[in-house]
Amino acid sequence: MKIGIGTDVHRLEAGVPMRVAGLHFPDEPAGLAGHSDGDVAAHAAVDALLSAAGLGDIGSNFGTNRPEWAGASGVAFLTEAARLVREAGFDVINVSIQVIGNRPRMAGRRAEAETTLSAAAGAPVSISATTTDGLGLTGRGEGVAAVAVALLS
Ligand code: MG
Repeated sequence: MKIGIGTDVHRLEAGVPMRVAGLHFPDEPAGLAGHSDGDVAAHAAVDALLSAAGLGDIGSNFGTNRPEWAGASGVAFLTEAARLVREAGFDVINVSIQVIGNRPRMAGRRAEAETTLSAAAGAPVSISATTTDGLGLTGRGEGVAAVAVALLS
C-alpha cells in the first residue's frame, strides 16, 4: 500500500469560468486563474496519485517538457495521472479531496463531482469542502485551495 498527498491553490479572478472538481459553475462571478482550467481539486488529486506512486508531481509530469498538456482540463490531467500510476504497476484504491474556500458551494453538486472525478481516476473519489472562518487567502476570497490524499496498492 502506498499513500500520497497533494495540495493546490489558484487565484480567483473576475470573469474567468469557475471550474472545480471537474464541474463548471456558471453562476459564479469569478473563476480560478492559471495556465490550465485552475481546477484545484483535480490538480491536488493528480499530485496525490503521482506522489503515492513515486512519480513526481504535476509540474514534473505535465510541465514545460510536455507542451501538449498546456491548458488541459483538470479531468484530463487526472485521467492521465491515473493511467501513469497504473502503468507503473499500481491499482488506485481511492482518492479523497477536500476543497477549501468560500465559493463555489460544493454541497449541492458533490455527487456529480464525485461521479466525474471517479470516472477520470477509475476509482472512487470522494469530495468534502470547508471554509476557513474568513481567515487566510481562501477566507478573504482571494483564491480556492484543495488538499487530496490517494491510496494505491
Ligand atoms: Mg493547479
